[in-house]
Amino acid sequence: MTFDLPDLPFAKDALEPHMSPETFDYHHAKHHAAYVGKLNELIAGTDYENLSLEEICIKSELAGDTAIFNNAAQHWNHSFFWTCLSANGGESSIPSNLASKIDADLGGYEKFKAGFINACMTQFGSGWGWLVLDNATRRLEIIKTPNAKTPITKGKTPLMTCDVWEHAYYIDYRNSRPKFVESFLDNLANWENAAALI
Ligand code: FE
Repeated sequence: MTFDLPDLPFAKDALEPHMSPETFDYHHAKHHAAYVGKLNELIAGTDYENLSLEEICIKSELAGDTAIFNNAAQHWNHSFFWTCLSANGGESSIPSNLASKIDADLGGYEKFKAGFINACMTQFGSGWGWLVLDNATRRLEIIKTPNAKTPITKGKTPLMTCDVWEHAYYIDYRNSRPKFVESFLDNLANWENAAALI
């Protein structure tokens, strides 16, 4: 299978002023595109070639095929991240079924917000902050993963993610990861997408 760079699910100027077209020119058209191109190059002619992206992530992580894992997982994580962004995002857009589950499992939105920001801020170096559903317990959890690591290989269903690699925020927020993460939650977090996944 050859993988393709997915189109953004919105116009690249749709999220201004919170995320700029220039950020998408780099983050989507260069960084994400490079992961897809490298993945295709690495799997050509190997046992990975006919697997789904999820299967490649799981198999390559177990096998210690680090380059394949990193590019496959970054393709999955970025493809998912774009769906976590909306021009009409933020707390006021949380559907009631998900709001109730956040209340029950995480103690309410404010506790979720503090926990999610903390996960994003304490991820030293590059990585991701996540709201996931544990497939076994069916409870919501806030987690962080370093570099390309992804919850889909660990029995978790991602509902929301924030990319905290510097390439995600340096153009619009310079060195301020806290401002970026707060802006993501307050303005961009696509809760309709998250609610559809539980
Ligand atoms: Fe990224």
